[in-house]
Amino acid sequence: METNMAQIKVARLHQVGQPMKIETIAEPALRPHDVRIKVQACNVVPNLHNILANWTTWFPYLPLPKLPAVFGLDSSGIVCEVGEQVRNFSRGDRVYVNPGLSCGSCAACLRGSPRDCKDYVFIGYFGFTLNAQPLYDAYPSGGLAETLVAPDSNLVRLPDNVSFEQGARFGYLGTAFSALKKAGVRPDTDLLILGGTGTLGLGAVLCALALGVRRITCTARIPEVMDSVKALAPERIEMLNLDDGRVAPRVLAASTEGGVEIVVNCLGPGAPAEQVRDALGAIRRGGRFVNISGVGEPVLVDIFKLMCGGIDVLGSNWSTVGEGHEMAALAASGLLDLSCLEHRRYKLEAVNDLISSIPDRHGGFTNFIVTPND
Ligand SMILES: [Zn+2]
Repeated sequence: METNMAQIKVARLHQVGQPMKIETIAEPALRPHDVRIKVQACNVVPNLHNILANWTTWFPYLPLPKLPAVFGLDSSGIVCEVGEQVRNFSRGDRVYVNPGLSCGSCAACLRGSPRDCKDYVFIGYFGFTLNAQPLYDAYPSGGLAETLVAPDSNLVRLPDNVSFEQGARFGYLGTAFSALKKAGVRPDTDLLILGGTGTLGLGAVLCALALGVRRITCTARIPEVMDSVKALAPERIEMLNLDDGRVAPRVLAASTEGGVEIVVNCLGPGAPAEQVRDALGAIRRGGRFVNISGVGEPVLVDIFKLMCGGIDVLGSNWSTVGEGHEMAALAASGLLDLSCLEHRRYKLEAVNDLISSIPDRHGGFTNFIVTPND
């Protein structure tokens, strides 16, 4: 077997709760269907601090890779090496790397639902199965590294009008995009987004606009960020301030159809369950509630009422590589407009400071990016 002697600079976590160390390690080997990517932008998502600080005690059923490990969930960059069986990518291609890995041969994978794979894991983040380590071993490096290796089937080609920094948002954008599609959003959908100013919520707003949704109502709390969301499409977006009381009565009062058709929950992990319960009361007959939020407090739900109203409650997480291709097409045509994102770039050496004290930000508009090759 050929030995790869090349070295790369990485940020590596040795112990949960401790800073990552900037180190030089051997580049992972490349198999026939793998692609090596020079990382131009790695998004530091809001949840990364939670993972690095105390994940193992919070979510033992979502295991981290064996430490030391290189984290970094959402990466974009330039293809710099391709395996001998790679057909659709070549050196110099600009790509986003969807970090979701599936086995490819279980029942869920074979019916085209890779996210339901019993072995589903995120490169450089966490897994959804206690059997995650073999896939971590196969793809050991996340995006906090000069290069990373991923299967060719995980790549989304970035259009010329999408920057690497914008491309590194495709994970959270895709989570919202996939949820909107799962809930069956159409241009005539009356949509309510809970937490419309955060990283996830802003992604839902941008994707809903791209999908042609005419009427979008968002709940939020920070007035200056609410103004920026409203300004994206003043004639299509309404903002409801959570400090003004319950949301459902206001939504019902404004609706001629008995409420909104679809609610997408993008609230932050610490949001109270009552905000979710309240929003369930804003859904019209036959509507849907889709959750992509990490709200941790259990929500007491009246399932009899949901049955009577024919209301579906859905869970969704992440997105498929195919959905990434759809988003790239929407961005190429200008329908998915990412120009509102404000990028802040950090060198790899600054990553611990960035994660431990996320600086002031303009809600989800601020995009924290590590650039390992600067
Ligand atoms: Zn599978």
